[in-house]
Amino acid sequence: MTYQPSPQRYDKMQYRRCGNSGIKLPAISLGLWHNFGHVDVMENFRQILHLAFDSGITHFDLANNYGPPPGSAETNFGKLLKEDFAGYRDEMIISTKAGYHMWAGPYGEWGSKKYLVSSLDQSLKRMGLDYVDIFYHHRPDPDTPLEETMSALDLIVRQGKALYAGISNYNAEEAAKAIDILKQLGTPCLIHQPKYSMFVRDAEEGLLDVLGNEGVGCIPFSPLAQGMLTDKYLHGIPEDSRAAKSTGFLQTSSVTDEVISKIKALNELALQRGQTLAQMALAWLLKDSRVTSVLIGASKAAQLADSLKALDNIEFSADELAKIEVILGD
Ligand code: NDP
Repeated sequence: MTYQPSPQRYDKMQYRRCGNSGIKLPAISLGLWHNFGHVDVMENFRQILHLAFDSGITHFDLANNYGPPPGSAETNFGKLLKEDFAGYRDEMIISTKAGYHMWAGPYGEWGSKKYLVSSLDQSLKRMGLDYVDIFYHHRPDPDTPLEETMSALDLIVRQGKALYAGISNYNAEEAAKAIDILKQLGTPCLIHQPKYSMFVRDAEEGLLDVLGNEGVGCIPFSPLAQGMLTDKYLHGIPEDSRAAKSTGFLQTSSVTDEVISKIKALNELALQRGQTLAQMALAWLLKDSRVTSVLIGASKAAQLADSLKALDNIEFSADELAKIEVILGD
């Protein structure tokens, strides 16, 4: 049967302005890094995308290399756009990125104009799109002048192949430089995508201040620490988890006894707040108004349903925040 999006899809989601831009993003966005490749099950990711869109998630995040194999998440997403979401493109913010290895030779990764332009052309073809809403430089390139990389983003926006430019994995100093160059070029940086969660807090060391002061949005990736900030690993490593899968990026060695004892304590606190740990971990990021949206993943629609309930309570008392610091610091 043809998919019909829920008419109530905009009723419950919260939308937050992305920095100083004209764009609002859903407080929760969906990323397609894992679970949408050719190795995965189409019916499963179809269900996840339907639930996301029905719940007011308008923002879908991809990259040239998502799969496996690389590129297949974009191909599969493009297929679903055509089959299920035709007619809804104008209700969606679709992002992709280039920076990591995609093809052989000197033009298949990092930050040259040659690579970024070619890669976006390939991404557009795979997704069957004329343009993406946000195009990111995926990681800083130590060898290419930042001016060249930023001018490639500016060019791509001027050509209409992307509406907005973003950066990802840049530290505070690198981000400040990139934001400044883009401003001078007349294509303001819309958004930064850092790794940020209760377990990974580098963004608090200057980056969030830069973004807040410059009016650039922030969309933390892996806000659940790839699943560790959920109740999934409380009793070991389940077979169907990212840590157990051969195609997953989470190493079993990351799920240490120390991590498990923190997860257990955080889980207790979440239950006292009437939340699951996943919900509390997302709420904890969203309490900061500089965070525009949290960029989650899901291997099942039920996980997405769980995570979406984070929005029911994103307030924390000073006592709860202090307890979280004690647990994380232990
Ligand atoms: P998360 O930290 O949200 O981890 C998602 C994983 O956690 C799921 O696939 C699932 O894993 C588990 N999970 C999610 N929700 C629940 C739940 N409610 N209960 C139990 N387990 C749950 O994010 P990701 O690491 O997937 O990253 C999200 C997105 O961020 C990516 O898709 C991508 O778009 C972006 N990203 C960007 C990067 C960059 O360099 N810019 C790098 C990495 C990601 P399981 O398979 O174990 O069920």
